[in-house]
Amino acid sequence: MSRPYYKPIADEVEIFRAAYAQRLPMMLKGPTGSGKSRFVEFMAHELGRPLIQVSCHDETSAADLIGRFLLKGGETVWQDGPVARAVRSGAILYLDEIAEAREDVVVILHSLSDHRREIFIDRTGENLKASAEFMMVVSFNPGYQKSLKELKPSTRQRFVALDFRTPHEDVETEIVQTESGVDSKMALKLVRFANKVRGLHELGLTETVSTRLLVDAGKMINAGIGPRKSCAVSVVSPLTDDLEIQETLSEYIALSF
Ligand code: ADP
Repeated sequence: MSRPYYKPIADEVEIFRAAYAQRLPMMLKGPTGSGKSRFVEFMAHELGRPLIQVSCHDETSAADLIGRFLLKGGETVWQDGPVARAVRSGAILYLDEIAEAREDVVVILHSLSDHRREIFIDRTGENLKASAEFMMVVSFNPGYQKSLKELKPSTRQRFVALDFRTPHEDVETEIVQTESGVDSKMALKLVRFANKVRGLHELGLTETVSTRLLVDAGKMINAGIGPRKSCAVSVVSPLTDDLEIQETLSEYIALSF
């Protein structure tokens, strides 16, 4: 696999390497679109480990993660789920949006995320010890208030946590330029527009403009759509349905492009 493009925002690469060296589980905190998944892909590549990713949601069951018996030609055979596969093969396991999973499911993973590094598969009676290379990484979006999903302290405190904050202007400009293909001048304009919107706390947006939205706007511009329209459809509309806020943001677009 070719090396994924990831532009470091602070010292996260060094921190992740140290956590991996000590086999400490990591929690990546930050809003959607802030580069958490890309960072894990990059780190897995850097460390030469396969990456197994799971998106958690409220229907995610223990069996979805750990495994289940399946009927095959009249026989029941055990099939490992993604967690068991990662634990056995020494992969990096990335549980995206862990807080979306039910608490009872999250608790099953506790023994994997502390010194025990093992998981008990009750269906088979197997106590599965993690391979030496195994590492668990989870993502968590603390600002996502709508779902009121929090993580219990007993879960959170098992992880070394990294906060993904908005990158510095020149770093984000480089990301937008590289990922979308627009020139550096246009990338800078997009980032400056985003930074203005990010400062408008009075709008009460649940989530603000992410790097992902800027990359998408850049891609639309590259496909021949005008910058104002690109921002309207790739940034404003995905962020809010409120017509008044949309109008306010359109004024900022008009000032920026
Ligand atoms: P998250 O997992 O936090 O929701 P992603 O990792 O999917 O976010 O990032 C969304 C997109 O934003 C990526 O596909 C990439 O284009 C871009 N991106 C964000 N941050 C970075 C970064 N630091 N380096 C490279 N690309 C980035």
